[in-house]
Amino acid sequence: MRITLMGPPGSGKGTQAQRLVEKYQVPQISTGDLLRAAVAAGTPLGQQAQAIMARGELVPDDLVIGIIRERLAEPDAERGFILDGFPRTVNQAKALDELLTDLDRPLQAAILLEVDEEAIVQRISGRRVCERCGAVYNIYTNPPAKDGICDVCGGPLVQRPDDNEVTVRQRLKVYREQTAPVLDYYRDQGKLQVVPGEGDVDAIFAALCAVIDALED
Ligand code: AMP
Repeated sequence: MRITLMGPPGSGKGTQAQRLVEKYQVPQISTGDLLRAAVAAGTPLGQQAQAIMARGELVPDDLVIGIIRERLAEPDAERGFILDGFPRTVNQAKALDELLTDLDRPLQAAILLEVDEEAIVQRISGRRVCERCGAVYNIYTNPPAKDGICDVCGGPLVQRPDDNEVTVRQRLKVYREQTAPVLDYYRDQGKLQVVPGEGDVDAIFAALCAVIDALED
């Protein structure tokens, strides 16, 4: 499987990607997660990215393309991959196409989780992430069994620093201006698939799996 999950912040990409990893045994590659790890580790890349992320803006294309190039070269990505949060600009999409053409493993589909933007700010305010393993919860729609504790590893659940209302509105604006054109890019290639991203998490997952199972290699 070689897909990218698209959708505005808070559309459920990360949650669904984590489920797909379990079912299809291919890695989730999230540029947001990789950048947050770089920030936490205090690497030069992380130092460059931290303030940009806090403002809800996009990290420069060459940096994220470099991250993706390195990550796709790791052995576990040979089985396939689920990109999450990449590409976010048409430039990134073109670079990805070049990279995958060189590897002779073109992207099969860009799957858009379609959600109403009005619901997003509230949705994101409920998001909690495990500090230890990265599992994603929502206190309203997908709560952990025990408040504040990860079901998977028992780690503490925290709120991302960029999940506040001001930053979320900025991230939505960036999505509309810079990422929405990527949808047209994939539509023109005949690779865009749309799955309704609202409602029951299990039902969305089932719809997503139906699309994936119908993909041609
Ligand atoms: P996410 O976890 O996908 O919501 O990403 C969090 C933040 O990381 C974004 O708001 C951006 O600042 C940065 N980021 C993640 N992926 C990308 C990307 N493909 N291009 C540029 N910036 C990114």
